[in-house]
Amino acid sequence: MSTTTRKWSGLGAAIQRADDAKAHDTAPATQVRQPAIVPADGTPERVLFDADAEITEADARLTALEERVRDGDDQVQPDDIEKARGLRRWAQLRREAAVRAAHPVFVRRDGDMEIWQKGPATVLVPVVLNSYPPELREAVQIRRVAVFEGCCPCGAEVRVTEAGHYSIGHMVTCPGSDEVLVPLATAAGVVTQRRNG
Ligand SMILES: [Zn+2]
Repeated sequence: MSTTTRKWSGLGAAIQRADDAKAHDTAPATQVRQPAIVPADGTPERVLFDADAEITEADARLTALEERVRDGDDQVQPDDIEKARGLRRWAQLRREAAVRAAHPVFVRRDGDMEIWQKGPATVLVPVVLNSYPPELREAVQIRRVAVFEGCCPCGAEVRVTEAGHYSIGHMVTCPGSDEVLVPLATAAGVVTQRRNG
């Protein structure tokens, strides 16, 4: 049980660490890294790839227009700049939608935790162990399903940002929330800690 206890400790903190590590090695949205190979049609990776390309193109168009104004080109009207800026914003929002909808992909199992990739975010998900009491098993299962489905019956929605930050705000009464899950885990002898603790 000691291994379980140690691995379980800090699920939230582990997710936060993964988030932080990811945030550090993720390029800002303006420096989108293109995969070397174009992903296959119809895959979530392809949707992101296309969204990245749209942003790059919109950026270039806006930058070129602004540069023309700086060069004294009076053919460029304020509306042209506004339209290019609006398209840039729209492309960004479309990419965010693609990130949010990204299908989670299993990376590997590490003891009683699993590592999944959801868009740019790396997420650690606890495995439901038979040694857990039923209430804890159910709570962990709800937590897992929320990660995979992207939402929870409590109304929480998974949010994944461009920088790879992952969050889900379960209602405090939801079994998947820290408020319910952590005391259940503690009662079962599984040490947990808060996301920032
Ligand atoms: Zn929930």
